[in-house]
Amino acid sequence: MSEPKDSPRWFEQAPAPIQAEPRTAPARKDLWVRCPGCDQILFRPALLEQLAVCPHCRHHHRWDSRARLEMLCDEGSFERHDRFVAPLDPLGFADSKPYSSRLAATQRAQGELDAYIAGSATLNGLPVEIGTFDFRFMGGSMGSVVGELVTRQFERAAENKRPAIVISASGGARMQEGILSLMQMAKTCAALARLRDEARMPYISVLADPTTGGVAASFAMLGDVILAEPHALIGFAGARVIRETIRQELPEGFQTSEYLLEHGMVDLIVPRDELKDTLVRLCRHFTPRR
Ligand SMILES: [Zn+2]
Repeated sequence: MSEPKDSPRWFEQAPAPIQAEPRTAPARKDLWVRCPGCDQILFRPALLEQLAVCPHCRHHHRWDSRARLEMLCDEGSFERHDRFVAPLDPLGFADSKPYSSRLAATQRAQGELDAYIAGSATLNGLPVEIGTFDFRFMGGSMGSVVGELVTRQFERAAENKRPAIVISASGGARMQEGILSLMQMAKTCAALARLRDEARMPYISVLADPTTGGVAASFAMLGDVILAEPHALIGFAGARVIRETIRQELPEGFQTSEYLLEHGMVDLIVPRDELKDTLVRLCRHFTPRR
C-alpha cells in the first residue's frame, strides 16, 4: 500500500492530542483490608459476603448496620420507623469544625440522618422490635435522636407486646450535644423499665465491637440477656484513662467480650452466623405465654 506523495510522513505529523478515557467507575481505595486478627490481606467484597467474618481466623470485623439487619430479619419483613427524625445543634457547638457542618458531611457520606436504625420485623416468623447502631455515623455516638429512637423502640415493643433487640456499636454519648446526650441514658432506661415492669416483655442486648461510654453505661448493659460478638471491645472508659487513673497495669484481655463473659458481665458470646437463631430461641423462652 503506497501513500499519496504530498501527505507528510508519520514522523512529520503533529501528534494527536492525548485524550483521557473517562473512568466507568470511581477508583476504590477500600477493596482490600488487613485483618486485625491474623494480618492477612482480605478482599473486601468477599469478606462482606461472609458476614464480614475473616475466613482464616474468624475475626469479626465491624459491620454495616443495614447488612446486619438484612442478615437478621426475615426477607422483606423489616418495616423501618422514625426514619426522618433529624438531629439539631441546640448548643451551637464547634470543636475543630462546627457540629452542624460535621453532621451535614456525615449525613451526605452515610445517607442516614443519624446513627441508629430501628424498625419492626420478624425473625424466623417471630415479631420483634429491632434496632442497630451505625458505628460509621460519628462513631455510633448517642445524641438526642439516637436516644429518642431507642426510647420509641422500647415503647413500641411495650405497646405491641413484642421482644426488643438492640445491637450496640457505639463510642458513647455524643459530646457535641453535651448534657442533652447524657440525658438519653436516663430516658432510654426509663422506657426500658416500663417495657419490663408493665409489658413484661424481654429485651435482648447484643454488644458488637465497640460498645463503650454512655451506651455501655445505660441500656446496653441492661439486657435480660446480654450477648456479645467475639473479641468485641466493651467498656466504659478507655483502657489508657483507667490505667493512668488507678496507676495499675490492667489484666490481659481487659474489656473484651471474653473477659466480660468470664467475669459475669456478659451471658453468651455468639458468632455472627448463629446470632439469629440464638435471638429467636431467647425471645421465645422469655416471652410470657398468653
Ligand atoms: Zn483474620
